[in-house]
Formats: sequence, structure tokens, C-alpha cells
Amino acid sequence: MSKKDLYESPDYYLADELFTEEHKLIRATVRDWVKKEVSPIIEDYSQRAEFPKHLIKGLGEIGAFGPTIPVEYGGAGLDYMSYGIIMQEIERGDSGIRSTASVQGSLVMYPIYAYGSEEQKHKYLPKLATGELMGCFGLTEPDHGSDPGGMTTNFKDAGDHYLLNGAKMWISNSPFADIAVVWAKDESGKIRGLIVERGMEGFTTPETHNKWSLRASATGELVFDNVKVPKENLLPNVTGLKGPLGCLNQARYGIAWGALGAAMDCYDTALRYSKERKQFGKPIGAFQLQQKKLAEMITEITKGQLLVWRLGTLKNENRATPAQISMSKRNSVETALNIAREARQMLGGMGITGEYPIMRHMMNLESVVTYEGTHDIHLLITGFDVTGLEAFK
Ligand SMILES: Cc1cc2nc3c(=O)[nH]c(=O)nc-3n(C[C@H](O)[C@H](O)[C@H](O)COP(=O)(O)OP(=O)(O)OC[C@H]3O[C@@H](n4cnc5c(N)ncnc54)[C@H](O)[C@@H]3O)c2cc1C
Repeated sequence: MSKKDLYESPDYYLADELFTEEHKLIRATVRDWVKKEVSPIIEDYSQRAEFPKHLIKGLGEIGAFGPTIPVEYGGAGLDYMSYGIIMQEIERGDSGIRSTASVQGSLVMYPIYAYGSEEQKHKYLPKLATGELMGCFGLTEPDHGSDPGGMTTNFKDAGDHYLLNGAKMWISNSPFADIAVVWAKDESGKIRGLIVERGMEGFTTPETHNKWSLRASATGELVFDNVKVPKENLLPNVTGLKGPLGCLNQARYGIAWGALGAAMDCYDTALRYSKERKQFGKPIGAFQLQQKKLAEMITEITKGQLLVWRLGTLKNENRATPAQISMSKRNSVETALNIAREARQMLGGMGITGEYPIMRHMMNLESVVTYEGTHDIHLLITGFDVTGLEAFK
């Protein structure tokens, strides 16, 4: 895209005053990086359905991989508000790039940090923080998506190693990842986490092609055919579904912030376009129908900004519940999808082209609304939380 990236984040309720100077500095740094490194190339990579691998080093340098992981393990040691802000700025550029950062930080580094041994933490985390090593997270299977507890991927004790069998599907970063955090059942049917490394015999990662969404993010499978996994690669400190769900909570929190970034980019683009594009002798922004769209967009963005700020405060205090995170993830993605669709219309024919980021955001968000718990599942989580009555089964 040759156009200059003129993005400015809307701040209708002066919510910036709720951030510290450090938060604002982090935001400015990531925003500058996105404008310089992501915006100029992202349309081309999306059109070609290619992940821009050269961005990995920069993502590591801006602290996008594991921002909350302590410095002693190579992380940035930042608070959760900073983590949210980083995800928001990156997804403002592209949801696929944010997905890579979310997977690396929340789904690979977090489980190693929270459930791993000291040896595992020192071996993997510093290299994951810089991007020298890239990871992926294998939970979803061909026959088990929203119901991961039904997984059939399994491992057996084979003396001095484990023997892993099964398959995972829809795995972000799998085609190029150096390691995979894989969730599988042991012989007693308990879910455990294993670190599987590229190059282990019987482990393959075929790429998933023909996606219309998240085209600049690489997605693939993980196939395990009698893979010998060393015993020291088992994550020792968690058993059961709470292991992967703990990781998903981290990632969903980041998505709650991130999706709003995509929404703000669509709004910013549509607002600017509405002042420049003239029809019937005046800017289209002067027509009431277009103003209705913009007024509703900024109202929903403002509500979302306040929601994620409050969620960030609760998360910093270790008080954010999984159900609160679900609500915010669901709300932000719905807000973003609605805004992307309305903004697309405001740009008329230009809205469907790669000259503007809106159609790309809209298509990306169709994945974001499905992964990390579908829109329906998050609604059921809220329903369960307020009624105490489970409606999943
Ligand atoms: C681009 C992309 C990247 C992804 N990356 C990863 C990754 O890195 N790692 C990983 O493990 N997974 C990943 N996923 C998988 C993702 O998390 C799953 O797609 C998601 O959990 C939904 O599972 P499913 O696709 O099998 O849909 P299903 O579970 O089959 O759901 C189909 C529909 O049924 C609805 N439904 C299901 N159960 C219920 C119920 N109880 N009540 C009402 N409605 C219900 C759902 O809401 C949905 O609308 C990714 C997916 C995509 C698209």
C-alpha cells in the first residue's frame, strides 16, 4: 500500500487520561513501528497469503512476545495494561500479525512460564522473547473445536520417553514454528502439556491453504505419528483442561484489546474518507445517514475502550475472572466486525479494494470471532456466569 498511514486513535471520552506516561510511551513506540513496518507491506502479504517473517525480529524488539513475562526469563516484565495496548496497536495494523504475537506470548511462553520447570523456562523463554525461536499452540483437533475436552491426541509412557499420536488442526504459526505446546491425554485420560520440537521424527506441520481470512498469518496442522517426546518436555505443573484454558484466558484478554484496534482503524479510515469524498456537491460525511454510522461507531468504540481499560485494571490486580474476559473478547470482536462492515459501505466501491485496510480487517475478524472461543461459546460463558446454569451440553 503506497498510501501514508495517517492513523490517529479516537479518544472521545478522554480515556487517555487513564493511562500512565509509560503506557502512552509504549503505545507511541508500537504505533510508530506498525506505521513503519506493517502498514506499507501488509496488503501485499495478505493478497499473496504469506506471513511476513521478516517482522519477527521487530516484534521481539518492541516487546510484543510475552510482554508480562518477567525480565529474568527474557520478557519485558510489563503490566497487563501495557500488554493490552501492545496488542491493540498491532491489531490496528493487522489481526494476523497480532495473532502471531498472541500465540507466541500467551499460548507458548505463558504455559512454559506458568506450568513449566525451571529448566524449561530458562531453555525456551529467552529465545521465544526475541523471536529466535517461534512457537505454536496445539489444542483444536479436526473433531474437537469448541469441546477440546473430547480430544483424542494421546501419549503413552515408553520407558525413557513418551510416544505421542494424534493430530491438531487450525494451528496458527504451525508451518514455521520451531516448537509446539501440545495438549494431549495421558494413559489415564488426563490432559497434559508437552513441548514438541520441529525435527522430532514423525512430527509434521502441513500448511492450511485457501483461507479468505488472516491471510498474512500462517495456519496449519500438527500431525504426530509415534513421535518420541523426551520426558523432560512434559509441562510438570498442570493437569487437566485448566492448563489450556489458563492460556486461552491470557490470549482472549489480548484479543479484547486487539480487536478494538481493528475497529478504530476502520473508523479512522471511514471518518477521513467521509470528509474527503464528495457526492451531490458535498462531502458524504455531511449526510445524516453517514453521520449515523460514524456516531454509532464512535459510541461503540468508546464503550469498548472503557470496558478493556477496566478489564486491564482488574487483570493487573489479579481479579479479572475468565467470564469477564469472555465478555470483553466477545464485545470487542462484535464491535469491530460491525464497524468494519459499516465502514466498508461508507467507502463505496473503494471499500472492497486493498487501497484501504477495511476489507482486510473485516475478513480477518471473521477468524477472530471464531478462534479463542466462538462468539456463541462466549455468550454461553456469560449466560452460565449470571445464571449458574450450564447450557453447553
Ligand atoms: C485462523 C484460525 C486460527 C486458529 N488458531 C488456533 C491455534 O493456534 N490453536 C488452536 O488450538 N486452535 C486454533 N484455532 C481453532 C479455533 O479455536 C476453533 O476454530 C474454534 O475453537 C471453534 O472450533 P471449530 O472450528 O471446530 O467449530 P465448532 O466447535 O465445530 O463450532 C461450530 C459452530 O457450532 C457452535 N457451537 C459449538 N458448540 C456449541 C454449543 N455447545 N452451543 C451452541 N453452539 C455451539 C459454535 O459456536 C460454532 O458456531 C484457529 C482457528 C482459526 C479459524
